[in-house]
Amino acid sequence: MTHIALAYRAHENEDKKVSSRLEEITVESPKAGEVLVKVAYSSVNYKDALATTGAGKIIRGFPRVAGIDLAGTVLESADDRFEEGQQVALTGYGYGESMDGGYTQLAKVQADHLVALPEGISLQESMAIGTAGFTAALSVHRLQQVDVTPESGKILVTGATGGVGSIAIDMLARQGYEVAAFTGKTDHSDYLRALGASEIVNRHELEMGTRPLEKGLWAGAVDTVGDETLAWLTRTVNPWGAIASCGLAGGIKLNTTVMPFIIRGVALLGIDSVLCPMDVRRQIWARIAGDLKPQHLQAIETVVPFSQLPDQFGQFLDGSIKGRIVVAIGE
Ligand code: NDP
Repeated sequence: MTHIALAYRAHENEDKKVSSRLEEITVESPKAGEVLVKVAYSSVNYKDALATTGAGKIIRGFPRVAGIDLAGTVLESADDRFEEGQQVALTGYGYGESMDGGYTQLAKVQADHLVALPEGISLQESMAIGTAGFTAALSVHRLQQVDVTPESGKILVTGATGGVGSIAIDMLARQGYEVAAFTGKTDHSDYLRALGASEIVNRHELEMGTRPLEKGLWAGAVDTVGDETLAWLTRTVNPWGAIASCGLAGGIKLNTTVMPFIIRGVALLGIDSVLCPMDVRRQIWARIAGDLKPQHLQAIETVVPFSQLPDQFGQFLDGSIKGRIVVAIGE
């Protein structure tokens, strides 16, 4: 059966520039191993802004339905693990990049990539979390795996007002950690404190130093910025602390030495939400719905209708974004 849906699709023009627009698409019923999802919500991540505007070379193959996240209800399933009416979410795996993504009323996806939404989390909440919140949760989870506990000391979250940063602060504070927020937007200090940060570090006024080891300041960090900020973190994390490196908002380089690793035993933990194995993925979603569930999602999320999606990307590209953008896809 052929379905018609409204989707936000990226095209490559003759001059190789990317432009995206809302348009009707056709979606076929699922074949073996596939599931057709009636999408209720999607979200906007930094990567979506790069992809839909062409500011970053994210999309492989055009035209492409953009959107790296989706949540909705199963409409048709050609896989035993999912049934009609079930609430599901999907993040990562290359949807919205090399496969059609979540900015559509109907999405046909691989059953292997879908997560049945655990009890305790609504479709809207799952997209207020989305890839950004999943990445925050994976970061907290991995810090805990190397024994960075609330007793270890203070945790610094960089890119604090962004999607990953906001949710990481909320989750860490909920777990009892003392959290410092590293931000360029000190005018949003009240927002960051409301999420659970007890200290604000202004990134524009920071002296980072240049020595291989600086004074230890943090038991751990969730770093969304990379580059000089990540290098500084390696120099300022306390002995046996750890850094969850999940982002590149400030750049991709890492110029440091082995000293933090061999003198202080600092652990640098790589965070990859896209190809995170399914067993870990389910574990993380269970924690997101349980002990890591953010307490301030309403303060973090801004919900916009599908028609306003095209207006959302600029704030990611100029770094002025605060929190998470949820897209209500609608009928
Ligand atoms: P957002 O755009 O929502 O937030 C990024 C934040 O970083 C901004 O709000 C700003 O916070 C800060 N920032 C922006 N530009 C700079 C700069 N030049 N130098 C220092 N800080 C800057 O992005 P997300 O939270 O969605 O994602 C954050 C990063 O994590 C991105 O690089 C993204 O690609 C990456 N990511 C990685 C994933 C993974 O699987 N590893 C998954 C999801 C995201 P402030 O003003 O408060 O400092």
